[in-house]
Amino acid sequence: MDTSIQAAIGSIRQQIAKAEQEFERGEGSVTLLAVSKTRPAEDIQAAFDAGQRCFGENYVDEAVKKIDQLAHLPIEWHCIGPLQSNKTRHVAGRFDWFHALDRLKIAERLNTQRPAELAPLNVCIQINLDDEASKSGIQPADAEDFIASLQHLERLKVRGLMVIPKPRDTFEEQRAALAQMRELQQRLSARFALDTLSMGMTDDMRAAIAEGSTMVRVGTAIFGARNYATP
Ligand SMILES: *Cc1c(COP(=O)(O)O)cnc(C)c1O
Repeated sequence: MDTSIQAAIGSIRQQIAKAEQEFERGEGSVTLLAVSKTRPAEDIQAAFDAGQRCFGENYVDEAVKKIDQLAHLPIEWHCIGPLQSNKTRHVAGRFDWFHALDRLKIAERLNTQRPAELAPLNVCIQINLDDEASKSGIQPADAEDFIASLQHLERLKVRGLMVIPKPRDTFEEQRAALAQMRELQQRLSARFALDTLSMGMTDDMRAAIAEGSTMVRVGTAIFGARNYATP
């Protein structure tokens, strides 16, 4: 087993537990999603051996290869990257979750393509919190109408919101930005049954937990810096 991955998983779990306590979040209320994009199946196996069960991948073709290699393991697979409509079938057929939903056309394709023998696909709506042209996601003000437009899609289960905020320097700045997500989620919860706030990465995990995240997506702190040249 890769002991550095094992140690990193242990350390992140401790940090999550500490933040849950510090910010009066319920014990075990924050799920760790290990982001394994660009990492080989062996690294996922090492994290699995350390007790990790939920893994996030961004690139569908890369992910499907690893899902095949690790088909013998009871892993919950999350697609967290933007999705082109010609790749929806793989996500509908091979994943348990999709975190980056922001277009009705993609939702309709996933709904149609979700195999009947599988449970509905869990989805999160990606919010473009900082109004960045380069980022996917819908505007906070459009979230309610968008979620309402998905209600008839019975093979999808809308679980909540997801965000990739722009980097901020201090914990307090991170918190102030992510508080907007907490408020939006609370507002939408008056109308829809939402139980997931997918926010927090290596650099803002603690602020995200302070502001109500239920799922942190951590890559670098578990697997080390990514090498995009050799995925
Ligand atoms: C890569 C990625 C992560 C993990 O980021 P780290 O900074 O490596 O923890 C989380 N969420 C999304 C959507 C990503 O693409």
